[in-house]
Amino acid sequence: MAPNVVSTSVQEEHHEHEPETKPLEPVQIVWRNVFLFIGLHAAAIYGLYLVIAHATLTSWFYGVFLSFANGLGITAGAHRLWTHRSYKAKLPLRIFLAFCNCLALQNDIYEWSRDHRVHHKFAETNADPHNVNRGFFFAHMGWLMAKKQKDVIEKGKTVDISDIWADPVVRFQHRFYVPLAAICCFVIPSAIPYYCWNEDWYASVFGAGFLRYVLCLHFTWFVNSAAHLWGNKPYDKYISATESKWVSAFAIGEGFHNYHHTFPWDYATSELGYKYNFTTFFIDCMAYIGQAYDLKTTNPESIHQRKIRTGDGSYFIDKDHKE
Ligand SMILES: [Zn+2]
Ligand SMILES: [Zn+2]
Repeated sequence: MAPNVVSTSVQEEHHEHEPETKPLEPVQIVWRNVFLFIGLHAAAIYGLYLVIAHATLTSWFYGVFLSFANGLGITAGAHRLWTHRSYKAKLPLRIFLAFCNCLALQNDIYEWSRDHRVHHKFAETNADPHNVNRGFFFAHMGWLMAKKQKDVIEKGKTVDISDIWADPVVRFQHRFYVPLAAICCFVIPSAIPYYCWNEDWYASVFGAGFLRYVLCLHFTWFVNSAAHLWGNKPYDKYISATESKWVSAFAIGEGFHNYHHTFPWDYATSELGYKYNFTTFFIDCMAYIGQAYDLKTTNPESIHQRKIRTGDGSYFIDKDHKE
């Protein structure tokens, strides 16, 4: 266990939401984003061809490394640190995570964290930005190609995000987001293999740039789609979020989503340790070198009681779990 762990005694809270009664407004498609995503996917497919045809083994390893850094910008950064405040980080780590977050290019930290807090507070209602009741495609990526429902904007305003804005690293990233994201997501990742080990220029741009970017987008999106649709609910059967080790494997630990929606303050997003959870391992390493501190966890007895009270019982038969 990492140093400075704050074990939280759970304030039990029932996560049943009021059933949504208001009809949805008609969908307004944002065509600019539709064409943007079509273009990105075409570039990623071309990148896949180039990588298979030309890329060296070094580039393959580099691609995996880059994907992990890309992922951490979302999981350890925007998600567990800035949205949920599940641990605290010193300035060098916050700068590193903000850099990785630019590499991920999924809107700046401020916007991402705001949307995610709204998702947690209003999950499965019209105010949920990626409401899973609107189907797999909408929750996965369709929501980014449609105008937000009025409820998302109106009720979103009731969510306090002042603490996120209070961080100068977040404000700096927000202010210079366009050039920072272009440089960190495309220029630097493409330049490194080309200049450092003479990788083919097009394979560098379309592989390390577009292919890595689009794959990592889908890894994140599966948390909102698959991990709200398929899997068991050992902690709270009244919510849509599920446990999915496959999503966790790709999203470096974010697929234990039933646990996460039940205990959102827990820096580990799971009680299974490092299993399919590289992000928890990373945060523990950062705690070991003193960059992360005040890691919040959940009291095991509270987890146990919660499972008995609202779980679907699957915990007791799942071989991945200890009981
Ligand atoms: Zn979350
Ligand atoms: Zn969710």
